[in-house]
Amino acid sequence: MKSRAFGPTGATLPVIGQGTWDMPESGASWGEAQRALRRGIELGMTHIDTAEMYGSGRVEELIGGALRGIPRDRYFIATKVLPTNATYRGTLAAAERSVARLKCEYLDLFLLHWPGAHPLAETMRAFDDLVTRGTVRFVGVSNFEPDAMLGAAAHLRAPLACNQVLYHLNERGIEHRLVPVARELGIAVVAYTPFGRGKFLRSGRAARDALERIARKHAATPHQVALAFLTREADVFAIPKAASVEHVEENAAAAELALDAGEIAAIDAAYPRGKAGPLAML
Ligand code: NAP
Repeated sequence: MKSRAFGPTGATLPVIGQGTWDMPESGASWGEAQRALRRGIELGMTHIDTAEMYGSGRVEELIGGALRGIPRDRYFIATKVLPTNATYRGTLAAAERSVARLKCEYLDLFLLHWPGAHPLAETMRAFDDLVTRGTVRFVGVSNFEPDAMLGAAAHLRAPLACNQVLYHLNERGIEHRLVPVARELGIAVVAYTPFGRGKFLRSGRAARDALERIARKHAATPHQVALAFLTREADVFAIPKAASVEHVEENAAAAELALDAGEIAAIDAAYPRGKAGPLAML
């Protein structure tokens, strides 16, 4: 699996990780989702993204079960505190609850899910204290505009590892300012919802044709081409969610797909970047 430096952390992460929003919260498909996650780790997609919000903790429990028996240094777990919980004490407590549900001893990455009403300085102070205690290795933010991201970094003693933001073929707004600012500061960008939940397949015929042509040339799928395009820059990572082994295998293989300049230009024309505007989020 192709991997690269994860912002200022000194860690190296796979270009493609695994999202978990909407993973089953119970029932027969719970086991299938766990098998998919384990297969992803086997294939090198060791970066698992989750949040205390997902299934109100049930998804973290599903992941905890999937990780059972896997040596702790073989996976990298990222979770997020809800803004409504992100007081100083609330942030410390949320991290402890997530560790307990995930049964993972410590968190590799802890993010503030989106900017909220509690003072950012308090949340960041809790993040620093969690790093000092060893509960958390690295900290970051999600859904932060570039200036707010700089504000978060300024409150921290620890380096800000990443900003996790919406990025897919039909939503390329972050390319205008967020990606360049993050690059300048050495902060990683993690692309969430990289398939726009399938939105790019519902685009106009010409756009789909362009993508399918490139996919055929590489004996790949449009989903794989989309992932290769989104991670074409050295500091962008993607975390597609897949609850089936088949999709996981396909996504892992996308890391090996290299697009040439002509193919990148063709996708750029088919799925234009659009105008700069406020940060889009789900
Ligand atoms: P997504 O990854 O864009 O799309 C997920 C959908 O794509 C699922 O229906 C999945 O089906 C399907 N899929 C996966 N691999 C496929 C493949 N190779 N071929 C065809 N279909 C495929 O959507 P997402 O879950 O919203 O985003 C990914 C992750 O980003 C989330 O799970 C979450 O961890 C994170 N996220 C973060 C935020 C935030 O605010 N920070 C917001 C949204 C999402 P199956 O499940 O059936 O395989």
